[in-house]
Amino acid sequence: MVDRIYNFSAGPATLPVDMLEQASKDIVNYSDTGIGLIEMSHRSKEFMAVAADTESLLRDLMEIPANYKVLFLQGGASSQFFMIPMNLLGSGEKASYLNTGTWSKKAIKEAQLFGDIDIAYSSEEQTFNRVPLPSDYTVDPDSEYLYFVSNNTIYGTQFSAFPKTDTILISDMSSDILSRKIDVSKFGLIFAGAQKNMGPAGVTVVIIRDDLLDKVPANIPTMLKYKTHADKDSMFNTPPCFAIYAVGEVLKWLKKKGGVEAIETINKAKASLLYDCIDSTDYYRGHAEKTSRSLMNISFNLPNSDLEGKFIKEAVKIGLNGLKGHRSIGGCRASIYNAFPTAGVEKLVAFMKDFEASNQV
Ligand SMILES: *Cc1c(COP(=O)(O)O)cnc(C)c1O
Repeated sequence: MVDRIYNFSAGPATLPVDMLEQASKDIVNYSDTGIGLIEMSHRSKEFMAVAADTESLLRDLMEIPANYKVLFLQGGASSQFFMIPMNLLGSGEKASYLNTGTWSKKAIKEAQLFGDIDIAYSSEEQTFNRVPLPSDYTVDPDSEYLYFVSNNTIYGTQFSAFPKTDTILISDMSSDILSRKIDVSKFGLIFAGAQKNMGPAGVTVVIIRDDLLDKVPANIPTMLKYKTHADKDSMFNTPPCFAIYAVGEVLKWLKKKGGVEAIETINKAKASLLYDCIDSTDYYRGHAEKTSRSLMNISFNLPNSDLEGKFIKEAVKIGLNGLKGHRSIGGCRASIYNAFPTAGVEKLVAFMKDFEASNQV
């Protein structure tokens, strides 16, 4: 096996090494067929089985009810920013959005092309350092849906409890899907780009309640209607075969680990190691308010940006990569998704303690 460094990248992000090794074999010769996985027809019985197994594992791990469709789409999570309002808002209809970071802002901008958008809450003035409590906003009763981002990848905030609403709840779970137990039946639609917590870039999973499929206005292009893909089990056209396969392998790994509940326990323990380190000193300052802290992305600052630069450089030298914060807030960010090993977090914490001791201001 190759020597691997600890990769704290926010996405594409670290994947289980067993899964990568399996994929490297299957790309050349899938299951002794003599054909590489990415060379086969998507209509072959081998690939159809891969797609069906990936869907059934996801249904099993997330306990997705039977009245929900699972779609494997292309165009990245960002294409959902327009597909959602395009499919779910008729002319003159309204939707509410919670603005908790860059990804919700982008979604709002696209939604405004299609409907009357009510921004029920925004933490933009506080550099998105928190997510709201239910008492912080009211949802317009005329809204067709309420949209929120469950984990804000850049700012390191996460909803620990989901919004309660009478309208349809829609969530971008790109950076925390499968990281914790959720009740899918509370949602109308959930989507996630695979490349944070689920697999490689190239596929976006959409979980949609089936009664929403028929809401789509008539003048929407075929490829952009959820119904098109739902009716053909995501095989209306060539699906992203490799990415779907790879997600399937990640799901097998997750199942072996004990599933979502087991990984949630591990994720909490991993994040606590880092937050305890941050809280034990004034040297490191977490970006998120304590009650809004993310278990997946931990954004923090050092006393000044020179030290942050030095910290990131020295970390690379000992095999801790990808700690540079997003360009919109600077500082540092440790992304510790499901596949990120606890040993890597322990190594980071030890490095943080050493760095603080030898770099006093
Ligand atoms: C990364 C990310 C996106 C954008 O994903 P793309 O697949 O690059 O379009 C959207 N939402 C969240 C929460 C993200 O973390």
